[in-house]
Amino acid sequence: MTVGSYKKMFTQLRAKPAILQRYLKFNKPKDRKFGKGIKQCLRCGNTRGFIEKYGLKLCRKCFREIAPSIGFKKYS
Ligand SMILES: [Zn+2]
Repeated sequence: MTVGSYKKMFTQLRAKPAILQRYLKFNKPKDRKFGKGIKQCLRCGNTRGFIEKYGLKLCRKCFREIAPSIGFKKYS
């Protein structure tokens, strides 16, 4: 289970606190110190194609979308 899909259930379970507690106990993803899942895009939560260079912390798709607005210029 990915972190994103696990958080989607919160909206449904907010009305049922007891079930939410049980859900958190058994279905929460493991807290990881390293690995692929720890690096997530700040904009969309994607873990693939992650760009950490220059402190961007975005996935490649989000970077392509917002690059001109944050001052990157394409030379080719
Ligand atoms: Zn992204």
